Amino acid sequence: MIHLLTAQLFKETAEERGVEFFVGSLAPDAMHYPEKEHLHLRCVADRAAAMANLARNTDPEDDFAEGVLLHLYTDWQWDQTHLQNFRNSADKSDKQWFKHYQRETGLASSWFYWNNPWAARLWEDMLALPTERYGKMDGIAPEHIRALLVNAHRWLSENQVGPSAFYPPEVVDQFAQETASNYQTWRPK
Ligand SMILES: [Zn+2]
Repeated sequence: MIHLLTAQLFKETAEERGVEFFVGSLAPDAMHYPEKEHLHLRCVADRAAAMANLARNTDPEDDFAEGVLLHLYTDWQWDQTHLQNFRNSADKSDKQWFKHYQRETGLASSWFYWNNPWAARLWEDMLALPTERYGKMDGIAPEHIRALLVNAHRWLSENQVGPSAFYPPEVVDQFAQETASNYQTWRPK
């Protein structure tokens, strides 16, 4: 939901985008470790340069590809700030820290799903999009992206939990607004 919130804010302030943009904004998480880390450019020495290079090779007219790029940009920003904050505050000996982290982002996501009037409709639209309309991504089959959507939607619609104490709505909202705005400045054409 943090990705959808950022994508929604981007769409509101920038240009009109199709539902492919939103599906693309979730697609990179359909991959598994270690390919997922590779796709997110977490393994490269200069992530900023790699992101800029990826942006230059992304057609801004391609809604799905633009959504993918926004996802990777969002994670890049989040990793350095909010993920890092969680790691810093977690007990260093706790091998389960990532599980606790995922619980907090789940709570935050649930809150936004249940408290945003556009969220349920957007999920319906994304689920209704035929997989043939998804963009091509190396290493991810459309069925895997579709499965990610189905599973995430099922969890959100069946779990009215949250908000997260670690990532309260105002913190997530501010992050999404700043990210949507910074993306427009950063995005090389
Ligand atoms: Zn991601």
